[in-house]
This record gives sequence, C-alpha cells and structure tokens, in this order.
Amino acid sequence: MVKVSRIEPDSIAAELGMQPGVELLAVNGRPLSDFLDWEFLTADEELVIEARQPDGEQVVYELERLEGETLGVSLEPPTVRRCANRCEFCFIEGLPTGLRKPLYIRDDDYRLSFAYGNFATLSNVRERDIARILEYRLSPLYVSVHATNHEARKVLLNNARVPDIKAQLSRLAEGGIQFHCQMVIVPGLNDEGVLEESLSDLWNMGDAVLSAAVVPVGLTQFSHLYTGKGMDRETAASILDQVERWGVRAMRERGETWVCGSDELYMLADRELPGPAHYGEFAQIENGVGSVTSLRMRVGNGLDRVVRRHGQRIGVVTGLAMAPLMGPLLERLSDASGAEFELIVAENSLFGPTITTAGLLVGKDILAALANRHDLDMALIPAETLNEDRVFLDDYTLADVRQSLPMPVFPSYDFIDVLESEASGVLA
Ligand code: SF4
Repeated sequence: MVKVSRIEPDSIAAELGMQPGVELLAVNGRPLSDFLDWEFLTADEELVIEARQPDGEQVVYELERLEGETLGVSLEPPTVRRCANRCEFCFIEGLPTGLRKPLYIRDDDYRLSFAYGNFATLSNVRERDIARILEYRLSPLYVSVHATNHEARKVLLNNARVPDIKAQLSRLAEGGIQFHCQMVIVPGLNDEGVLEESLSDLWNMGDAVLSAAVVPVGLTQFSHLYTGKGMDRETAASILDQVERWGVRAMRERGETWVCGSDELYMLADRELPGPAHYGEFAQIENGVGSVTSLRMRVGNGLDRVVRRHGQRIGVVTGLAMAPLMGPLLERLSDASGAEFELIVAENSLFGPTITTAGLLVGKDILAALANRHDLDMALIPAETLNEDRVFLDDYTLADVRQSLPMPVFPSYDFIDVLESEASGVLA
C-alpha cells in the first residue's frame, strides 16, 4: 500500500486538495505497489493519479506540471522486505534482548539498497523484481555477495535455496546495473581460495562492479548462531595481503583501488591505515571503509576553523577500536584550539567487550564514562551513537544523558563540527 504521510504547503498536491492518509492506487493507469513505482511513474509531466480517500471514496487527480516541479507528497515508510537467510554471523541475531522492536528487523530489500545504500543479498529477489530493477534502472545497488561460489554462499547465508549470485549480477549487469559489493569474511568459509574466486569473478564483471569491500565478521557476545572461527590478527593480515594484491592490480589496470579492506580489518591486523588516495571517492565509507582516513582528512582541513578555547578541558569519548588512533588527532586539535583534550575510552556494556566500535556505544556507557567528571568543560561523544531522534540504542535519549552529566555534551562526527562553533566555545 502506498499512503500519503504529508503534503507540502503551497505544493501541487496541496492545490489539488490531497490529504495525508490518502492511498495512492495508480499513476497513468499503472497500479502502484510501493514507493519505487510512485517515484518512477510520477516522473512524467502529465499525470492522472487514482487514489482512495481515508473515507473510502475513490478520486482521480489530473495534473500537468513544469519540468522539475515537485508534487509535494511524502509517503509513509514502506513495509520492509524481510530476509530469508539465517547467516550465523548475522549482527541482528547477535543483538541482546529488550531493545526497541525495529532494531530486530532483518531487512533484505533491493529497494532500500537502491534508495538508501542498505546492503541486500538479492536472495529474495524474484523475476518481477529483476524486471523492475531493469526497467527503473535501480543502479547502483549495494550487494552483500560474501562469496560468488554458489556452494560457499549457501553455507554462509545458511539458505539452501539462495539463487546463484553470479548469474543474478551478470544478468543485471547486462541491463546496465552497477554494484557496490561487500564480502563479510568468516575465517575458514570464504577467505583464501573462496575470496580469490569472488574477487576474480567480480573483477571479470568489469565496470558493473564499482567497488568491493572486504569486512571481517563482527560478533557480539550474543551471536548465538555462530559456530565458526573468530578473526585473529594473522588471518586479518593474510586477508589484507590478498585484498591489497588485487588493489595494486586494479590501480595499475583501472586507475583505482577498486577493492579495499575495511578499517576494522586494518586494526585487527595491526596495520597502518592507507592514505586518501587508496580510497578514491570513498565509495564504501558508510561500510567502515576509509572512515578513519576521512576523519583524519576532515580534521586536517578544519583546524583553521577551530575556535580558541585556551584553558578548557575537553573529554573525548570513544570505543576501544579507535582509541589507539586518537592521540595524534587530539594533539592537533589541542594545538589549534589551546584546549587540553582527554581521551576517555568507554567499554560497550550492551554488546560486550568484543564490540569495540565507537558508534555502537550506548547511553549507559556514555553516562558511566563521564559521571562525576566535574573537571571537564565539555565532552564530545560519537554522533553515530544516536539515531535521527537523538536516541541511543539502549533507549536513553541525548537529553537524558545531558541532564545527568555535569558538563555540556556534544555529539560530534569529526570534532571540527563542534569545535568550530562559537556557541560551544562560550560554555558556562
Ligand atoms: S542476510 Fe544474513 S546478515 Fe543479513 S540480515 Fe539476513 S541473516 Fe542477517
């Protein structure tokens, strides 16, 4: 069902008298099944929209609009397509109980892959979905490949009915669709020869595969399905060697690295992270590939905008993984601002000690790390810990945390975003 959630004031839809709650049924005679149909079918300038009012009355809106003019209609969020796999390494299966319900939804939705860059396995994609992807040219898609070897992939996804990903990608590629791919590596299942085969297959798809990321399996203390091996330093180093060999070849033959190990893989292997040139356009930064290098760049580029805070003491909360990399960054920020920075490393109380990512810290961890720190003039916490409603994963809100702590607390993506603001420089 495609339902209107909001109508922009003074928009075409408002002029037509469209209301929130209206169900949109068809555009130019073609029935709507979801937001994608709406998005693509309303691209025309002349539209006949069939709809049903909240009281059940059917209406038809006819309109003509100028090129580029928006209709002013926002839709209710789509029903997400659920995942048909049961990967042993599934992060959602590794969540503790008692969190808010939406966090447990295992989505595997090619539509969200196109619209928001969510990774999808394409294992629940049917023939009519393929036709839609091709017709609407849903490109690029973000695809969890994990392994191109069919047998290995069945085991990884714990799904005997999974379609052959190589055949799926090839078919879509013939229709002009491109992909950003990821391989989550489970030692012993899809590293070594299986990874080599995957990288080779993806490489052979040419321009269709825009980038590939190799990410280590991430487990929490609740990952009850997992029976495989953990990722140790030696395995991470050997995977990186393999990935970097492909990266060198890609740079030589295509002028870009093409395949990158995630930041976590470098940290697990205890290796220095590559510089910006390695990541090109940072195609998979949201997947933790190049985020540290990007942070270093943003800090370097923003130092001259930092407000002077001589004599202030600023606490910076982070997770265990980032802690060893923070020293040089904080020194630079200290030189630029005149403030003294203290790195405060918080442990993850919700997921357990194996989860060391700063972005997965919860409200309770921030409170524990900063309680009674009356000596701090301000604290910076990772902005990624909060959702768009400013709520942590454990349902504490930023307002709760701020109220309980003795210093002003600012969520920050790259320090500069807070430290460049005069408002945070004149704190009480
Ligand atoms: S594809 Fe695997 S990891 Fe992703 S949601 Fe499904 S079960 Fe979890």
